[in-house]
Amino acid sequence: MRIPFIAGNWKMYKTMAEAREFAAKFKTLYHGTDVKTAVFAPFPQLALLTKQFEGTGIGVGAQNVHFEKEGAFTGEVSVPMLKEIGVEYCLVGHSERRQYFGETDETVNLKIKALLAGDILPVVCVGENLQEREEGAEEKIVSGQIKAAFKDICHEDAVKITVAYEPVWAIGTGKTATPEQANQMCFCIRMTLKELYDEETADKIVIQYGGSVKPENASEIMNMEEIDGALVGGASLDPLKFIEIVNF
Ligand code: PEP
Repeated sequence: MRIPFIAGNWKMYKTMAEAREFAAKFKTLYHGTDVKTAVFAPFPQLALLTKQFEGTGIGVGAQNVHFEKEGAFTGEVSVPMLKEIGVEYCLVGHSERRQYFGETDETVNLKIKALLAGDILPVVCVGENLQEREEGAEEKIVSGQIKAAFKDICHEDAVKITVAYEPVWAIGTGKTATPEQANQMCFCIRMTLKELYDEETADKIVIQYGGSVKPENASEIMNMEEIDGALVGGASLDPLKFIEIVNF
């Protein structure tokens, strides 16, 4: 059985003081549910958040990582560095990293392997852009991203990975994919995983939808058969909005 997973991506928002304020408030609102939850914060706030959320069941994730353990890679952060401060999850291949920072299908795959080897759970983002959707190429693009991301990853490791389907045209734009569009693409992702592995493995992998999820549309999205969770950007910055989504 797949456990629903609702995660917040803070992107490059919140100073230390703001992160502390969020954590204090969110802890008073969160009473534990059947839904797994986590906050993906900027690097400087991660150690603070793992301390603040210790014992609460609220997970903490990074938004990026380097695939090498150490080395002359100025400005980068490694898996052991994240692990040491209690980080449980890490985003890989968010469309903003693919678009602005040269993330490729190859680096996505290397990062996933490094995270799994270092015992941090990857959340891999895939999704088509507007032009690709208008050309009717969304399924081809997304299944290609999935095949590249899961390349040479064994069954036992594959089930530790969460997939976030995030159509690029719906991120931070206020445009949400219709629940049917999101459901169809999550179905397509599961079929690709079934092709790569087998039905049992594919059925265990959690697939989130992301793209302008907010309190008003969360339950409709979460009630779709193929959607197991949500990756929430803008609305996760406000503890009151984020808790409403977690408690959809
Ligand atoms: C995201 O950052 O992954 C995201 C989906 O953002 P938003 O919810 O703001 O569209």
